[in-house]
Amino acid sequence: MPAGLSLVATPIGNLGDISLRALAALARADLILCEDTRLTAQLCRKFGIDRPLLSFHEHNEKTRTGEVLTRLAEGARVALVSDAGTPLISDPGFPLVRAALERGIPVSAVPGPNAAILALTLSGLPPAPFLFLGFPPPKEAARRRHFEAIRKLEEAGLAATLIWYEAPHRLLATLEDLAGVFGARPGVVARELTKRFEEIRRAPLPELREAFRATPPRGEITLLLAPAPSGPEANAEEVSAALEAALAEGSLRDAVERLSGRRGLSRRALYQAALALKRKEAGEKGPGTPEGGE
Ligand code: SAM
Repeated sequence: MPAGLSLVATPIGNLGDISLRALAALARADLILCEDTRLTAQLCRKFGIDRPLLSFHEHNEKTRTGEVLTRLAEGARVALVSDAGTPLISDPGFPLVRAALERGIPVSAVPGPNAAILALTLSGLPPAPFLFLGFPPPKEAARRRHFEAIRKLEEAGLAATLIWYEAPHRLLATLEDLAGVFGARPGVVARELTKRFEEIRRAPLPELREAFRATPPRGEITLLLAPAPSGPEANAEEVSAALEAALAEGSLRDAVERLSGRRGLSRRALYQAALALKRKEAGEKGPGTPEGGE
């Protein structure tokens, strides 16, 4: 391991995924920066590594950065790990890397596990282009705005597989909001990757929502959404699916309110489409509905 800062990826659930280079980098480090010293101490113990650990997490990374830069400037070999996976990816380290680069301190990395990339490869969705968006905002209003902003980008031409991290207790609310904005677009929930209860569910958003409503999810979750479909027909289909999802959630007025302003559709056009959907639904459900028309 050369002097400087080394970003060392660690397993996301299966200790067998630690790499030989990761072990060598940790064993030779003068200092290991980690989010949770107890957790990293366990990992080190498991592989017979005994090096000094220093806590470095989202609440102290700003104050710790100066101290770490001093050690680096003195020629120390510093390894940065997170609790799991690749440092910096929804984990601490970005300001430290910037500051080290600005001072001409060498920065290297030991690549390894990352939940977003693993979920992408297993999803069955197009692997490129993709857009990794970290965690969606936890509060409902901000989350909806976030999804609507992405939908606007899609209207402007973005067509990428979308990837988020999500906490299990927020998954249902997030799926509801996603279905409200993206309709019945195919999604994937990748849960507990590399662990004993690994599960990959691939289904349209409303189906995923119903599945997790019936069985609340546990464990670690990465969520993916298929790219925006292209062409005017796909667009019409998506509007209809989004309306259907919104109507299942609330009144016709609420559904129109939620969807108006998107894709340049007027409230009037949405009302008409929603009424047509309601009529179709009533026709399908109603007693004595003639089958196959006149
Ligand atoms: N830096 C990590 C990486 O490279 O994957 C991610 C850190 S982020 C704080 C943790 C989130 O990643 C979890 O809340 C979950 O959304 C996702 N995640 C981590 N491990 C996972 C796993 N085994 N299966 C599915 N998602 C996982």
